[in-house]
Amino acid sequence: MAKVSIGLRGWRFEESEVFTEDGEFKPLDEIPEDPRERLVRLTYLVEQPCDACYLIHGDEEIKRCAQAAIVYGEPGDELLLCGDHEADFLYWYREDGGKAYRGEPTFRDRFHEWFADGGRAPEGYGGLDHVETDPDTLPDPPDPQEIHQRLNEDFEGRRINLREGRDEDDEAEDEGGEKADLDLDDVDLGTDYPSR
Ligand SMILES: [Zn+2]
Repeated sequence: MAKVSIGLRGWRFEESEVFTEDGEFKPLDEIPEDPRERLVRLTYLVEQPCDACYLIHGDEEIKRCAQAAIVYGEPGDELLLCGDHEADFLYWYREDGGKAYRGEPTFRDRFHEWFADGGRAPEGYGGLDHVETDPDTLPDPPDPQEIHQRLNEDFEGRRINLREGRDEDDEAEDEGGEKADLDLDDVDLGTDYPSR
């Protein structure tokens, strides 16, 4: 059973859980819950800046931040790092007490505090024990648009039915009517699209 990273290094997916035998992404409802959650989350995370770069440059100079290449932590509490700052993170984790916070909700904040206080890996600190290359060679996560659509397929289906019902059958209007339209609008706006 092969494990693969998708989009960003760090999170590992069981290949057979996520891909079909043809190497296509499986439909979301065929992917077990945990990898599905990570996969959906990844479509958002791959666009985000490195946390450490962001601490340095902030929103004003967000263009100077490197894009994340590595993800650590759990969905919703991720730590995102570029290749340059991974060494700082690993140093903190391994040599400067970070490991104690592993799995805790404060994990990310602790690293941020340490880094913001000037914490850095010593010059030349390697410590990278993985041999994977840059994220460009990793499979991309599915297109966010596609994920978004798949997540909403149920709702889409319902909307189509209501419309058909109204066109073909006037009686449906009493039940479906405007109220249904409002509900569906809410669904469109309030989808569970990941935000940070
Ligand atoms: Zn960085």
